[in-house]
Amino acid sequence: MSDFLDEIRARLDGIRAEGLWKREAVIASPQGGRVTVDGREVLNLCANNYLGLANHPALKAAASAAMEERGYGLASVRFICGTQDLHKALEARVASYLGLDDAILFAAAFDANGALFEPLLTDADAVVSDALNHASIIDGIRLSKARRYRYANNDMDELEARLREARDGGARHVLIATDGVFSMDGSFADLASMRLLADRYGAQLMVDDAHATGFVGEKGRGTPSRAGVRADIVTGTFGKALGGALGGFVAGPGPVIDLLRQRARPYLFSNALPPAVTGATLAALDLVEGPEGDERRSRLAANAHHWRKGLEGLGFELLPGSHPIVPVMLHDARRAQDMARGLLAQGVLATGFFYPVVPQGKARIRTQMSAALTPQDLDQALEAFDRAGRETGVLAA
Ligand SMILES: *Cc1c(COP(=O)(O)O)cnc(C)c1O
Repeated sequence: MSDFLDEIRARLDGIRAEGLWKREAVIASPQGGRVTVDGREVLNLCANNYLGLANHPALKAAASAAMEERGYGLASVRFICGTQDLHKALEARVASYLGLDDAILFAAAFDANGALFEPLLTDADAVVSDALNHASIIDGIRLSKARRYRYANNDMDELEARLREARDGGARHVLIATDGVFSMDGSFADLASMRLLADRYGAQLMVDDAHATGFVGEKGRGTPSRAGVRADIVTGTFGKALGGALGGFVAGPGPVIDLLRQRARPYLFSNALPPAVTGATLAALDLVEGPEGDERRSRLAANAHHWRKGLEGLGFELLPGSHPIVPVMLHDARRAQDMARGLLAQGVLATGFFYPVVPQGKARIRTQMSAALTPQDLDQALEAFDRAGRETGVLAA
């Protein structure tokens, strides 16, 4: 036992020594544009609270009402005795919102992606996956017996080469898997080209829209809507723009959803979503499809534009784009940590990202805009970036 723990301690020391240790800021308030950390109110630039719904009164009221009417927990998986009318309503609602046949709920999008590939694909089939796909897609693919092909991020020539290899290798079914938005970079998958390639090679197109559902595309229907194309299968989360509690889904053709309901292990061997979450997510979808959704999406877009312009004006290196994920590139992990610490001292919560979450040498502060932030908040945050940037040597003093 002592050997075991000693070895773990040595690895922990190694993580600290490399400057890769992750600390968690403890928040003593609801999630929002401003949060309380260490007894102090700070601006929050690192939540996936894109539409500012995480503490919205309508969602809290819907959660309370659902809990009063349907209780606190289900204490069962769905197929044994854990399916409520609210689950059926939410599945139908997610499918109709996304314009797909049917949908199935999971405890998290991590589980949705973990569940998807193994039941659908056999060793006669192939999956072709973007190199920057989310960890849950990578793990989900690992759990399947399908032949695996990988292409460089958003490289359509490489995607085509891999599709040709899969076809030449005699693959029966081919599934292309991509994030709709690459969450470390805030860049969009080239879905228009991917749809063309999928059709040319007779492949299915799967899109994980975790960083898009609710606020990208018409009425927030996501990256396929933005690109004007159809995705065959969409996975997503309720843990980001749609209220930010938890839960995930797969939406797609009826037979795909039916097979997942019969065979997907994270569905068959894990608890049903609680009523408060299903009820509030239904309310979130009402809001997102209504006029308040339009208003919040336009505030989010205006904030993202203002924020990018402001950071560029101060001299920071950004990754180009238009998504509310705005990565400030610092390259060095320690520097990213120093900058994040400096920002917190200036009253701004923003997290440094470094290896293994992003490649070596590509450390960054990933900032994220929210409709919960005001223009005054952003100006205050820009001042903090300016000061912290000079103190840490990121900007010329
Ligand atoms: C956040 C995220 C997930 C995981 O979502 P959870 O519901 O929190 O498990 C999956 N895929 C992508 C692309 C994500 O960004």
